Amino acid sequence: MGARGLDLDLPFAARHLSAMADDAELVIAGAGLTGMLLAVACAGAGLEVGVIDPQDPAAMLTPGFDGRTSAIAYGSRLVFDGIGLWPDIAAEAEPIREIRVADDSSPLFLHYDSRELGGETPLGYIVENRVLRRALYEHAQALPNLHLIAPSRVAAVEASPTGTLVLLEDGGQLRARLVAAADGKGSPLRRAAAIRATQWRYRQIGIVTTVAHARPHGGIAVEHFLPAGPFAILPMTGNRSSIVWTEDADLAPRILALPEAEFAAELRARFGGFLGEVEPVGPRWAYPLALLQAERYVARRLALVGDAAHVIHPIAGQGLNIAIRDVAALAELIVDQRRRGLDIGDDTVLERYQRWRRADAVLLAAVTDGLNRLFSNTIPPVRLARDLGLAAVHRLPPVKRLLMHHAMGTIGDRPRLARGQPL
Ligand SMILES: Cc1cc2nc3c(=O)[nH]c(=O)nc-3n(C[C@H](O)[C@H](O)[C@H](O)COP(=O)(O)OP(=O)(O)OC[C@H]3O[C@@H](n4cnc5c(N)ncnc54)[C@H](O)[C@@H]3O)c2cc1C
Repeated sequence: MGARGLDLDLPFAARHLSAMADDAELVIAGAGLTGMLLAVACAGAGLEVGVIDPQDPAAMLTPGFDGRTSAIAYGSRLVFDGIGLWPDIAAEAEPIREIRVADDSSPLFLHYDSRELGGETPLGYIVENRVLRRALYEHAQALPNLHLIAPSRVAAVEASPTGTLVLLEDGGQLRARLVAAADGKGSPLRRAAAIRATQWRYRQIGIVTTVAHARPHGGIAVEHFLPAGPFAILPMTGNRSSIVWTEDADLAPRILALPEAEFAAELRARFGGFLGEVEPVGPRWAYPLALLQAERYVARRLALVGDAAHVIHPIAGQGLNIAIRDVAALAELIVDQRRRGLDIGDDTVLERYQRWRRADAVLLAAVTDGLNRLFSNTIPPVRLARDLGLAAVHRLPPVKRLLMHHAMGTIGDRPRLARGQPL
């Protein structure tokens, strides 16, 4: 199915600071998926919100901005639903009915089937990031209390016991109760707050592209573990799939530079024949892969959300899902505090946010890092152990159901939005 055209007019892109009250309750640095989701959630609940990003919003909405698709867990879909965004996304979201995880050339594999959980609920959805971004920006436009200040950049934040002053690079200033840093993995605000982070680069690049195929995918997501890393085939609308091909960092540039026919041949060699004839149809994108875990998610009147707080390997397609749970938790704490007439930037709110969110993100960082190391290992005993592990999980229905619920984001101490309740 074709995507809707990006026909937004962007009157708010040009809005200047002087057009909004000089006092926002919440200022968000970063208008990526995390920052905009937090902005729409909080502004939708009545908060006065300012969002600042150095990039031009019109450029962020073009198809050339981000080639990624995201595996959106079912719990994340509930968050989009609760904020009123899902109707704008649903038509371009492909339900994931099954997940097949296979080790390179091994006959044993792990198979998740949504039908094993009873009912029609899919395990999640595959959605193009630009579809998510467009839905967020359209919603933002309809909220008069959400002010997008872009292009502009947060230069510094000065927090005091009574409030916080956000200084913009162009000399503008903005007073707020709380600042959320959704400014990505290099987070200037995290650095400025002297929050240290554990981080490393994987010697891998994520090559992302789209393919068209002769046979329908049937809503099946496939992950092949190859020696260089996972090769994921993710079902998109129509007879298309998104490829996330993890490749050795030294080899990736050569693959990315291959002429079309040779690139297609490399893809087919990794694909297997289950979808029939396969043809690359989109541009090729390259994302260096990294792990990052901030030591703290909060400082005085500052909360880190999304990639600013944690970056994980895309092996399980969970990075944005963790960010969505951050947003759901922080929005709930802020909105509840405000309903009580209390300061949303109070330390108690921030401490609760950190306690609530950090364990989930640390666990997923450890699991994804471990899986990547385990499956990128060609030593025979390690291969045997992991194949037996996959087969064992496959044969233990209770363990498998637990892992399926975990992948769906439908267990654990979930915020109201992630349980399908309104904010
Ligand atoms: C190959 C790949 C595949 C992935 N697949 C999945 C998947 O299937 N499922 C999933 O859940 N996750 C996936 N992820 C992870 C997911 O894409 C990221 O976690 C997510 O996009 C992070 O969004 P963000 O808004 O937190 O950060 P970003 O997108 O980095 O946004 C940060 C924003 O902050 C702005 N900014 C920077 N400095 C400043 C400043 N000083 N002031 C104001 N603004 C500033 C930037 O301009 C930018 O717009 C994948 C990641 C990769 C690399």
